[in-house]
Amino acid sequence: MSRLYADIIVDISQEKLDRTFQYEIPEHLQDHIQIGTKVRVPFGNGSREITGYVIDITRQPKVEAARMKQILGPESQGIPIESRLISLAAWIAKNYGSTMNQALKTVLPVKEKKKKQEKKFLVLKASKENAQQFLEACEQRHFKAKARLMRGILEQSPMPYEQAVNVWKAAPSVIHGLEEKGMILVESERVWRNPVHTGQRESIKKELNACQQEAVKKILEEWNKEKPRPTLLYGVTGSGKTEVYMELIETVLAKGRQVIVLIPEIALTYQTVERFSQRFGQGVSFMHSRLSAGERFDQFELARKGEISIVVGPRSALFTPFPNLGLIVIDEEHESSYKSEKTPCYHAREVAVRRGQVENARIVMGSATPSLESYEKGKNGSYQLLTLERRYENRALPKVYTVDLKEELKAGNRSIFSTLLQEKIKDRLEKREQVILFLNRRGYTGFVSCRSCGHVMKCPHCDVSLTSHRNGKLICHYCGYTIPDVQKCPSCCSPFIGGFKAGTQQIEEMVYRLFPQARVLRMDADTTRKKDDHEKILAAFARKEADVLVGTQMIIKGHDFPDVTLVGVLAADLSLNGEDFRAGERTFQILTQAVGRAGRGKKPGEAVIQTYQPEHYSIRASAEQDYPGFYREEIAYRMLMGYPPTRAMAAVRGACADENLLYQGLSYCKKYIEKIYPGEDLILIGPAPESVAKVQDMYKMVIYMRHQNRRTLVQIKDCLERYIAVNKGFDKMFIQFDFNI
Ligand code: ADP
Ligand code: ZN
Ligand code: ZN
Repeated sequence: MSRLYADIIVDISQEKLDRTFQYEIPEHLQDHIQIGTKVRVPFGNGSREITGYVIDITRQPKVEAARMKQILGPESQGIPIESRLISLAAWIAKNYGSTMNQALKTVLPVKEKKKKQEKKFLVLKASKENAQQFLEACEQRHFKAKARLMRGILEQSPMPYEQAVNVWKAAPSVIHGLEEKGMILVESERVWRNPVHTGQRESIKKELNACQQEAVKKILEEWNKEKPRPTLLYGVTGSGKTEVYMELIETVLAKGRQVIVLIPEIALTYQTVERFSQRFGQGVSFMHSRLSAGERFDQFELARKGEISIVVGPRSALFTPFPNLGLIVIDEEHESSYKSEKTPCYHAREVAVRRGQVENARIVMGSATPSLESYEKGKNGSYQLLTLERRYENRALPKVYTVDLKEELKAGNRSIFSTLLQEKIKDRLEKREQVILFLNRRGYTGFVSCRSCGHVMKCPHCDVSLTSHRNGKLICHYCGYTIPDVQKCPSCCSPFIGGFKAGTQQIEEMVYRLFPQARVLRMDADTTRKKDDHEKILAAFARKEADVLVGTQMIIKGHDFPDVTLVGVLAADLSLNGEDFRAGERTFQILTQAVGRAGRGKKPGEAVIQTYQPEHYSIRASAEQDYPGFYREEIAYRMLMGYPPTRAMAAVRGACADENLLYQGLSYCKKYIEKIYPGEDLILIGPAPESVAKVQDMYKMVIYMRHQNRRTLVQIKDCLERYIAVNKGFDKMFIQFDFNI
């Protein structure tokens, strides 16, 4: 047997991750030591015995082999959670292409260097009703300062002490007074910065309806099988998926196991927090993407010690080190925020399934608009596919009208609003109901289309939209195909061909011009610069301080506004003509979400979708809220073009300050790939400039690879990594791999 060496870290607080020590693995231990194993080693001059984790195993000694110390043996007491996470990191490094160090940094939290600051918080202690009564009593007696602070606390608890003093102008005596009355508590942050924490509550549980019960029953049956599959719960908006998750969570907690609930970055709203807190009380902790590394570390510490048993949070919450993980829920599983844009470009959906396998935890994902990847797995049986077809209490799905903007142009209407949408806005303003106007800018990158006939300029080879560039050219970002910009529509000769230009601000102005009496709130990048601007705007709209909310995709995610009875989608085509193969899927998702915002309360809702391509299947299917219909068309297109999920696809992305050098470098990569894998079943395209071709003076280019098997692409990546490492020419550029495009 040949000699093996292990790289070992002895301190897994992140600053020291780079410091590894190499030890020889004695022959008799070779079968017992893997990446992640916790081992005992002799350390330092006196060779005192300490423990560490194996993070890599190689055949290459870094120092003279004869001088290397040997591992004493594996730690015997069980497998610590760190071991499992380290082996998960190794899997991530291998499957997404990164160094072990980058993967470890993704998986393990950073310990905070600076001393924790003690911060004080005011927390509502009385029940909401008592607090409300007390507030009214204060108002009657004109205790203005007390009333003001009570109002503040009712809106936000916990409230930082400084905020009470500075914003709500509460003197210490006022705070003390409320504390005496038993209304509030002043707590130091022993609570480990747990971002939410409310005083009293009793567990509130809802009776599931028949469809929900059926879903829970089938999932529990699946869990009893020898090899339980992940579940995909496809349920229309408002069908009560969250109630199903909560029921399942309860069964897992009852077995003494823990739960991770992933939600898209933007969805951690007050509503989500309330729902989970009401049901599960103190055992649940919430992570949001703005937590500092140290705050995340603290939360993970709580989880490791068993002080919490549910974590609700974005992508990074997936790595919560629970000792006995029982379930991972992925809500809105189709969301793109589950994918990391940084190396390693892992996808939380895939990593969750992997973690589930390793730790014997169950996986449940849910969506009203599942990703094609997951639905296909549901169709072919590798996932359990369950459907909730109807809204809870049979509330009607909104009635949707599709307006053809070509017809509006013909009829002489050049405004951003179709005649129908104008009429409906007017009607809602009169009835004092609320309206959402949604500008669909997501994925918009400057495609060119004809306003007379709807023709879109596309790449003849890749069937994605060409993107107009400042140099007066139209370019395909998959294969690099380029043509000069057009002045006339190649299909109908109309001169009305060009890019789309209208922003949220213009829409707001337009609403004021047409309906001077309307009160409008606008939510876009400009009005949400500060940390809590989002919540403020949404809260104001929820309090009915405005009739119309205008905005980009931030306004259509997961919020529940019962008085919204009309949603207008202003430019459905913007995302439809994105320059990548997911444009149709993204459009369907966005439109379905947007439409689903209408009629969530007792009053039925309506939606108006304005488009130049009313016949496009993404538009038709979202108007009918017909996911299976959409899936059939979309999967046929993917199959025809060889796009995922019918084939695996990966990108080799390069960035470099020198454009020529970058092109050369990637061309060498392409030639190298062709040499090591001459098979015709591998499709290579590019190098082509990325959609954002230059960022901070770095040029960006990409090669795409497609093959039947993901594994083949991973093997090619392995070879390519070595090729890049040994060739000096690549020193001046960054190369990154991406397996989920
Ligand atoms: P989804 O997650 O599928 O969009 P939700 O779980 O948010 O749906 O449910 C939509 C609404 O219906 C929520 O207001 C929820 O409280 C309510 N709801 C769902 N199921 C029940 C139930 N079994 N009992 C009472 N209310 C329910
Ligand atoms: Zn035309
Ligand atoms: Zn092309």
